[in-house]
Amino acid sequence: MTCETIARYGCASTAMCYVMHTSAVAAIMLRPTPELIDKYIRPLNSGKLGTLSYSDPETGSHFWYPISSGAEKTDGGYKVRKKASWTTSGGFADFYVVQTTSPNFTGYDDLSVFVIDGADVQSQPSLWDALGLRGNQSGPIQVDNVEIPGEQVVGPLGDGASSNDEAVDPWFLIGSSSVWNGIALGAIDIAKRHTTRKKHVDVGMRVADYPTIQDYVGEAVMDTNACRLFGYSVAQACDTATDDNTKTLAPGETARADFLHWLWQIKFEAAKNTAHVVDKMLHACGGSGYKRDMELERYLRDAKAGWVMGPTNEVLRQFVGKAVLLGFESLDYWNQTYNRRAVENEVKKLDAAGKRELAEQLLAEVAASEAKAE
Ligand SMILES: Cc1cc2nc3c(=O)[nH]c(=O)nc-3n(C[C@H](O)[C@H](O)[C@H](O)COP(=O)(O)OP(=O)(O)OC[C@H]3O[C@@H](n4cnc5c(N)ncnc54)[C@H](O)[C@@H]3O)c2cc1C
Repeated sequence: MTCETIARYGCASTAMCYVMHTSAVAAIMLRPTPELIDKYIRPLNSGKLGTLSYSDPETGSHFWYPISSGAEKTDGGYKVRKKASWTTSGGFADFYVVQTTSPNFTGYDDLSVFVIDGADVQSQPSLWDALGLRGNQSGPIQVDNVEIPGEQVVGPLGDGASSNDEAVDPWFLIGSSSVWNGIALGAIDIAKRHTTRKKHVDVGMRVADYPTIQDYVGEAVMDTNACRLFGYSVAQACDTATDDNTKTLAPGETARADFLHWLWQIKFEAAKNTAHVVDKMLHACGGSGYKRDMELERYLRDAKAGWVMGPTNEVLRQFVGKAVLLGFESLDYWNQTYNRRAVENEVKKLDAAGKRELAEQLLAEVAASEAKAE
């Protein structure tokens, strides 16, 4: 996997830009049109760069919930607004694949995808300053009611949720997992190089001769290879389901999306593993690893991005556990399913006056929404 190799040999930021680029291209290629191909895909040969801008400052890690965005139909196309707190390659990309609520949207599962040209995007890349991945410029961007031609919608209106499951998530989760695995491999390489060279003259041993250090490296290699093979097998399942990415999928038809549950798991495991491995390789290298010149510290900082990058590992482990225990439909991405158990439990705690107050409040809300609907 290219992303794994780029990250292993020291450029995780470039690898993440590449992941976002290929995910943006995959989102377009899920619903290709002659216009989108001519404008965005053919020029890729000349080095054009794309990216994804999905996450929203108001909803944080719930990047599938674009509250600060929207689109409306105009005569020739759409007027699009988008606010994103994070966008890899923000300010440098030639095109941005963005997700917004649909024109005349009916609820937060009614999302649409548009391509916005770099010239129409406001950004201040110089403000990006973070613990790791310092080269990937994941700063905020804004698309301020920009008018775009109708050909720049990707897929039919309302296709956002399914294009997310079928293209964006699979490509992003496989690609980013490869980056986290590459960082783990790179940290192991550095630890191997250092511990096999550094000698303790008093006991005549190299650091690598201590069984403790051998244990650290042995466990790191096995855990990282488990993550890699897990990632490869899910990637292969996606390839098989799409006849090596040649299958044309109609809106609503799924292939890679059938493996979403597994895709979440590979990202969780790779991000968890890399954070652990970089810590252990630092321990193996001792104080020398703590100094910048060995460059292990950069791998350590870059690795920390895996856990917090959406979908975060907190969100993923809950998705997986909840889906296993209560079924996929219980996940309620868009906060639409009524949790009767929780409500009834809370209501039980109210006295008669509290229940009356709540009932009156609810009846007033019903009256207001009925009046609005008339
Ligand atoms: C280096 C980097 C690059 C990025 N690049 C891009 C990009 O190119 N495009 C893009 O669209 N986005 C990008 N993002 C944004 C990313 O996907 C998230 O939206 C962002 O990291 C959320 O940050 P936040 O501070 O709002 O976290 P918050 O959502 O406030 O999270 C705070 C804590 O709450 C936890 N939490 C949140 N929701 C739940 C829940 N339901 N259950 C349990 N715990 C929960 C989180 O796991 C975390 O521990 C990038 C992020 C990073 C770090």
